[in-house]
Amino acid sequence: MNPREELRELIAQAKEHLRYYGELGLTYIGETSRLAAPQPKVKDHAAVESALTTSAATETKRPEPPAPTIISPPQFVPKPTITMPTEQGNSAKVSLFGEPSIFGEAAPSLTETLLSDETIDDIRRDLGDCRRCKLASTRTNIVFGEGNPKAELMFVGEGPGADEDATGRPFVGRAGQLLTKMIEAIDLKREDVYIANVVKSRPPGNRAPEADEVKACIPFLFRQIAAIRPKLIVALGNPAMQALLDTKIGITKMRGHLQDYPRVPGIKVLPTFHPAYLLRSPDKKREAWEDLKKVRAFLRGEL
Ligand code: URA
Repeated sequence: MNPREELRELIAQAKEHLRYYGELGLTYIGETSRLAAPQPKVKDHAAVESALTTSAATETKRPEPPAPTIISPPQFVPKPTITMPTEQGNSAKVSLFGEPSIFGEAAPSLTETLLSDETIDDIRRDLGDCRRCKLASTRTNIVFGEGNPKAELMFVGEGPGADEDATGRPFVGRAGQLLTKMIEAIDLKREDVYIANVVKSRPPGNRAPEADEVKACIPFLFRQIAAIRPKLIVALGNPAMQALLDTKIGITKMRGHLQDYPRVPGIKVLPTFHPAYLLRSPDKKREAWEDLKKVRAFLRGEL
């Protein structure tokens, strides 16, 4: 490729990124700490393109990106204190936040998790044609999860909707299409990550999964996480966040605050809004974008 073609390619890529950002509801790109300063409007493609052209033509070395801004958790988010399980095969009966555990004995213990060497395929085989809860009688397909079994990044949603139930694949409907754009906006592809849900069968009429259904299904999600060992799990919405962190605190308070995943040391959880909620409340996309930038910075080792 000659320099002119390279430049054209660069501009095409930049335009493609800007389109994603636009679809995420962004009006400008920048770090939180610099929001007060005048920022170039993303919509202003010509300005960005000309800035890009000038810098690409005159600079041999690209400037380092500005350091990410770390937003520290507000006072009301309690500091996690992990309750270590005993060796009697229990999971934590007291959650990360000192509340009674939602799952009690239902989940695998930390010891079981750490000693396990099962693979995603082993877990899928064990799930079989699951009849462990009442959702089995109304679902069409089990939606086990899909993606890279060695992913550094995992997304967890609530449960399959109609499109997922029909196809057996997670996040393929309208919310799924937005999730795919969110993944691509942080320079990843859907195939790079692993996507799963709290429950693997569709709750009828898209109602929230009930406590007994979550309790029956959640061990499979915990086992998937233990097999994949991602660096980071993005919890999409309340049910996913509450199940992963074993808490009843709401997503609005928790979103954007990096937490320890209590079941496997070294894994972090970042709660954010569910894409279906973002479709209903587009004004929340800005906060979701802040969370996504945090995901990207974390994976780059910048947090
Ligand atoms: N919403 C979810 O929470 N999960 C899906 O797989 C699809 C929509």
